[in-house]
Amino acid sequence: MMKCTFLGTGTSMGVPVAGGFGSDHIKGDPRNERTRCSMWIKTDKSSVIIDTGPEFRIQTIRSGVKQIDLVLITHEHMDHIAGLDDLRAFNYTQKGAIPLFTSEQTKNSILTRFNYMFGENRYPGSTSVDISVIDSRTTFRDLTITPLPYNHGRIQVQGYRINEISYLTDVKSIPESTKELVKGSRVMVLSGLRWQPEHPTHLTIPEAVQIADELEIPQTYLIHMNGFVDHEESNKQLPDHVQLAYDQMEITV
Ligand SMILES: [Zn+2]
Ligand SMILES: [Zn+2]
Repeated sequence: MMKCTFLGTGTSMGVPVAGGFGSDHIKGDPRNERTRCSMWIKTDKSSVIIDTGPEFRIQTIRSGVKQIDLVLITHEHMDHIAGLDDLRAFNYTQKGAIPLFTSEQTKNSILTRFNYMFGENRYPGSTSVDISVIDSRTTFRDLTITPLPYNHGRIQVQGYRINEISYLTDVKSIPESTKELVKGSRVMVLSGLRWQPEHPTHLTIPEAVQIADELEIPQTYLIHMNGFVDHEESNKQLPDHVQLAYDQMEITV
């Protein structure tokens, strides 16, 4: 059994955005306040984090993350990696490097942008992660982890299937070969930016519903929504098997 916590469910700028601009219409429902996307998966034997965005520190405190055995990174956009530096606190308490799985492309980006953490010039006391590139099914303790490559406009993203849950954020389109890997999941987490109009690098909510239907996933939760998506109104319009997630929501898979 896996306990899955949505640490964050917001689009790249968060909701509300810095400065609080344009957020009047979403006031009053805390589920409309969305930090950047991340998920915590906890089993008897493993504690895994998918993506470490800019609010990673706050998310771990408010959801009670005390141990991190593995980090999975989907892609190199800052809303998914800016919090890597805050893994330091876990290095201190766990007394060692934290394994990190990602794609080749994202690994190279991390090595460049967080250069002070790696190699000869490694800054003393900086975050210690042990990066492995994975491009096929891998086992980690009690988890079977399958990379799920797909398109996000100009770049590739690597989502992950972890046992019975598939996590796909920042999706524009999914190739057939990846759809086959997702099929059979009990739960899918899928990004849906807004109701409309179409976006060059993200699925809209109606497009995400189409994919959920096509793959016949019993339950899908949408993430990466912007500030024009009202939680309650949207969930009323959506079918029961596709609903919006919100920050700190917990599900058991
Ligand atoms: Zn993103
Ligand atoms: Zn992105």
